[in-house]
Amino acid sequence: MSKYALLFIPAFFSMQAMAQDKKVDPARDPKTTEVWEPVPKIVTPGNLPQDAPSDAIILFNGRNLDAWHSVKDATKPAAWTIDDGFFTVKKGTGNIETNKKFTDYQLHMEWKIPANITGEGQARGNSGVFLASTGGGDDGYEIQIMDLYNNKTYVNGQTGSVYKQAIPLANANKKPGEWQYYDIIWNAPRFNEDGSLLKPASVTLFLNGVLLQNGYVLKGETRYIGQPQYKKHGPASIKLQDHGDPSPPISFRNIWVREL
Ligand code: MG
Repeated sequence: MSKYALLFIPAFFSMQAMAQDKKVDPARDPKTTEVWEPVPKIVTPGNLPQDAPSDAIILFNGRNLDAWHSVKDATKPAAWTIDDGFFTVKKGTGNIETNKKFTDYQLHMEWKIPANITGEGQARGNSGVFLASTGGGDDGYEIQIMDLYNNKTYVNGQTGSVYKQAIPLANANKKPGEWQYYDIIWNAPRFNEDGSLLKPASVTLFLNGVLLQNGYVLKGETRYIGQPQYKKHGPASIKLQDHGDPSPPISFRNIWVREL
């Protein structure tokens, strides 16, 4: 055997191995079900669970409400009260909503019922977050916010309900005076050209890390009176409610959103 033949022996065996590889039945080959693309983008999480990750849009930075406007008059900035690191509903000024419009997203927000809360039922710290504002007033899809620590109301209208549609899976409310947080995944509805519904909206919601809504499919926009109903809309603002009840106003902080 020449010294050249010796060089070819390893090459011969590796070619045989390749030939054997090709004979693997695809149905028995684990590689058949491996997916390598698209590679999920790198997002740097915050140090604490509530910290905004690197790709979040900050809707409240603790200092101003520049990302929001009044629903009554879209040319006017949101007139709610800013404090150090949080803001509070200013009763009578109406709802506020984001300047930017969204479709599908992940939302984090923190809110606090004041320690001196008064009232009962729905008139105790009532506010709410509308996941898509579809018009003035309370048009859209409301996730209820109110004091539910030691307070009774209709269960499809309590904190964490899709208002008058979906009862929350648990009551994970903290005491008045303590900060609480929502993490929400919103999949907006899709509509056909003629306005008919193509795909309903769905929502997953955690309160203080506890699952309250598990991919609930909405029947339509939430309504105080009457049945839920869809009406065609596109990307929409996120809206916060100035409810008319006379109880002390609630506060918000650390609001950020990740578009999906
Ligand atoms: Mg409300």
